[in-house]
Amino acid sequence: KKLVQNGSRLRLPPLPSPRDLINLYKLRAKKQLSQNFLLDKRLTDKIAKAAGAIKDGDVCEVGPGPGSITRSILKRVPGRLIVIEKDPRFLPFLEMLQEASQERLKVVLGDILSVDMQKLFREDLRMQWDDRCPNIHLIGNLPFSVSTPLLIQWLRDISLRQNAWSYGRVRMTLTFQKEVAERIVAEANGRQRCRLSVMCQNWCDVKHVFTISGSSFVPPPDVDVGVVTLRPKIEPIIKEDFHLVEKVVRQMSTFRQKKCIRSAQTLFPPHVREEMAVKLLHLAEVNPDTRSFQLTLEEFKRLVSAFSYMCQDYPKLLKYQYGGNSNDKEFWENNESRDLDIGEL
Ligand code: SAM
Repeated sequence: KKLVQNGSRLRLPPLPSPRDLINLYKLRAKKQLSQNFLLDKRLTDKIAKAAGAIKDGDVCEVGPGPGSITRSILKRVPGRLIVIEKDPRFLPFLEMLQEASQERLKVVLGDILSVDMQKLFREDLRMQWDDRCPNIHLIGNLPFSVSTPLLIQWLRDISLRQNAWSYGRVRMTLTFQKEVAERIVAEANGRQRCRLSVMCQNWCDVKHVFTISGSSFVPPPDVDVGVVTLRPKIEPIIKEDFHLVEKVVRQMSTFRQKKCIRSAQTLFPPHVREEMAVKLLHLAEVNPDTRSFQLTLEEFKRLVSAFSYMCQDYPKLLKYQYGGNSNDKEFWENNESRDLDIGEL
């Protein structure tokens, strides 16, 4: 069984198809692992193509399952392909591909939420952050149950230039429920605009490349699936610490359709809430009548910096959690800044 390279394409030796293998091993999709397999070669090729030029680069595929996207990636001749799969039932499938690919493929059994990618790729592919993107790619038809928390975790890693992003601005090609894909790319004022849109667009250039009908998957999920590419920006729009940005964006999105002054109030404890929200919007030069979903990234930038400024005088504001402090009054009374005089801000 030999692997044949023809220019920029690589032909795998004849292998049983993922569909045959699933039948052979009598594999049933596990609901708790969100297993919906994509077995249509045209579509898996399209996902691999969406990742751009991967020839000779390092690719990490998340959740390869029976390996159909894996095959499409291999055909595009990456230097190395590392697949990270949680379900050991797929090991025989992946090991067969590993052998056929002449060790170009490396299989890691593990949970992507805890895999450390800090040393996963080849050193010579490393790039400076402000240089072009390295030839390193993350690709995945992610389990829906982990896709959003994973994306948030990765955005934080991007902000800190750690994990895979210690190698530079590593690009991602990922699948989400179509609605989530639409949220990721939604502009201010858009129907799907939400905090995920702001967080993703602050650190990455995002693109919803195409949609796959749910009926193309085995078993079919109830929803369609969107393929999204994310490319880390050299400079995020809002440069403050990830957690501070997340806090302000989360709270400012509390009441999506209402005037943003209502959402802004949730950043502050009850007894100073109204005055401080006015102060925040005034400092940030944001019109309090703007609806939360209409806020632009530039407005969020001013809001985060105004909130950060207010926190310098009252650091406990950073810890305040709307609805999270079981006794708001007590929290504030035990707080050194309880004599908060908003006039000073
Ligand atoms: N890529 C395959 C395809 O397109 O046919 C499978 C996609 S299926 C939606 C998601 C895959 O991710 C499954 O193989 C599942 O076992 C795996 N998976 C689920 N949670 C995971 C995790 N936390 N880390 C790594 N793999 C995971």
